[in-house]
Amino acid sequence: MAANQIVIEPEELLRRAFPVLDDEEVAFLLDKLREQTYPPDTVLCHEGIYEDVFYLVSSGMTVIYKRLNDDEDLVLRYCGAGEFFGEMAIIQEAPRAASVRTTEETTVLEFDKNTLQALLNHNAQMALAMMRITFDRHRSNDQNTINNLRHSYETLEKLDRAKLDFIEVTAHELRTPLTVMRGYASILAMDANIQGNSMLAEIVEGIVSGTNRLHEVVNNMLDIQRIDMNQIKLSKSPVSLSVILKGIDKTLQEVFAERHLNFILDLGDNTDPIYVEADSGLLHKAIQQIVLNAVKYTPDNGTIKVTLRYEEHDFLATVAHITVQDTGIGIDPEHHKLIFEKFYRLGAAETHSSGKTAYKAGGPGLGLAISHGAIMAHGGQIWVESEGYSEETFPGSTFHILLPTKSRVPSQEGRFERMDRE
Ligand code: ADP
Repeated sequence: MAANQIVIEPEELLRRAFPVLDDEEVAFLLDKLREQTYPPDTVLCHEGIYEDVFYLVSSGMTVIYKRLNDDEDLVLRYCGAGEFFGEMAIIQEAPRAASVRTTEETTVLEFDKNTLQALLNHNAQMALAMMRITFDRHRSNDQNTINNLRHSYETLEKLDRAKLDFIEVTAHELRTPLTVMRGYASILAMDANIQGNSMLAEIVEGIVSGTNRLHEVVNNMLDIQRIDMNQIKLSKSPVSLSVILKGIDKTLQEVFAERHLNFILDLGDNTDPIYVEADSGLLHKAIQQIVLNAVKYTPDNGTIKVTLRYEEHDFLATVAHITVQDTGIGIDPEHHKLIFEKFYRLGAAETHSSGKTAYKAGGPGLGLAISHGAIMAHGGQIWVESEGYSEETFPGSTFHILLPTKSRVPSQEGRFERMDRE
């Protein structure tokens, strides 16, 4: 026993800790208890394990904690003289919800599960008092967890903000010299001397396409920064999705041919012109990104099918429903939400091939985050369905996009008239 610890006799301790006990019950407990003294750092309760002992601290101090990961614990509370622990697992007949360790030399009174249960069966007031204390502890644990979560969330938000600031500064710093390089490279590409020399022409072509690609990445970084900071500005006008989808089909014809991919565009039998109020450029970019991903993650000779339908939706009234379905490597369900986070990409970077449209040509992990941000900014929804990932069976993925629509038909004066069902 440490020199500064006050010794309380077991009987006195029991009466102070449980005032509702009568003399007979105190005598019963005195007969059953074991008084033990443990050195500092002794683990008395082990999280996740079924254990049968209930403890009342006589002197010293213990800490109740949960394991967060291999080298971090979450302290729930400290438990000193006159306080008890170990009752929750016994009452609930469950494994220990937390671990308990002595932080200094500690003396405890120990009772077996049967003793505690016999006492609770005998004294309803004691059972109630203990339940009340147990509930209070649950409640305060919940509150602590919520406070910790809130704190972690705030820290993550600050880190994310710092990341966005860094992206913005880097992207701006890169964009200026890149624009200069692009300009000079284009001038070189037009030079008659270079055009006349096939080797030089090929080198310059490489520089032009490399700087263009870099420019695209830098622009994507700025887009994601704007989306995340809610600084995205939509310049909306009535947009026909069929026109956008046909445009994407046309733009990517060469890519489909190069990769021997079968592209099917199914616009349904919709004869009414239906328009969405949208930023045409941003929407084009968002949808094209999904199709480009289908290209990247589908092996040669695969099929990509894009459909457009108009459906009645519970919350969004009439919606345009676009699906982009591929016969590619698929995505494990555990990643279905995370792939829409910025910089989230699957597979090791070194296993990715280079190029923008080559099979498994990994990018910086910004494409889907931009698509997601753009669709959300239009009041829509985007999600993916896929059975899982396999480079043997190629289960494929289907991306779904929902966009609210406004049905309009051109009036005789050639302007659009609203046909919203209100
Ligand atoms: P990246 O630049 O890596 O392509 P994206 O944000 O476009 O980034 O996509 C994030 C991740 O989602 C990709 O790294 C890829 O693993 C996965 N993914 C996206 N589209 C598909 C798809 N059609 N099939 C399989 N995996 C996909």
